[in-house]
Amino acid sequence: MALKKRYGMAVDTRRCVGCNACVIACKTENALPEGGFRDWIVQEVWGKFPDLSMQIRSERCNQCSDAPCVSSCPTGASHVAEGGVVMVSRAKCTGCKACMASCPYGARYVHPDGHVDKCTFCLHRTSIEPGERSLAARGEHSPASIRRTTACAEVCPTRSLTFGDLADPASDVARLVASRRHEVVRPEAGTVPNVFFLV
Ligand code: SF4
Ligand code: SF4
Repeated sequence: MALKKRYGMAVDTRRCVGCNACVIACKTENALPEGGFRDWIVQEVWGKFPDLSMQIRSERCNQCSDAPCVSSCPTGASHVAEGGVVMVSRAKCTGCKACMASCPYGARYVHPDGHVDKCTFCLHRTSIEPGERSLAARGEHSPASIRRTTACAEVCPTRSLTFGDLADPASDVARLVASRRHEVVRPEAGTVPNVFFLV
């Protein structure tokens, strides 16, 4: 029997140059409104001059396996979809912001149309289940084109971002996570993220 899919991402912090191409690609792919972002760049500097270190990384929703945004949503709008991806059903979302209050990562924002929005791992083009593709694409600007990676990963000029199925040991993402030292953001939050930062 095939293992259950677990979609995830490896973010290679040694490759990211902070060019923001992933942020712009996401805005375009998903027709995000002004001021709305599903991914963003973080720059961290530590140490004491002259011994300084810097990490640049592209962050987004961590598609947590134990997602407080799902359990706190009173209407069932926030739900777990194919591959463990956390999605928001626009029709069911009342914009109450309970999910935003429970997310430790600030990964959600309120869309001007009144519903909450966040990263979908581009399920409208990465899903292999047609039902998920149409749900993810509903209300968006263009018909889904079926590709097996996210817009951010596709455009990244340094190949910092790798999307795929962590449950498939032969996938690029699973191999990277298995072979490289990695961290998740705020592990103490206990949400079991599926976005891994290679260090
Ligand atoms: Fe970093 Fe790639 Fe995003 Fe540029 S596109 S900011 S290199 S992750
Ligand atoms: Fe939910 Fe936030 Fe985790 Fe994304 S990062 S699944 S919005 S708790």
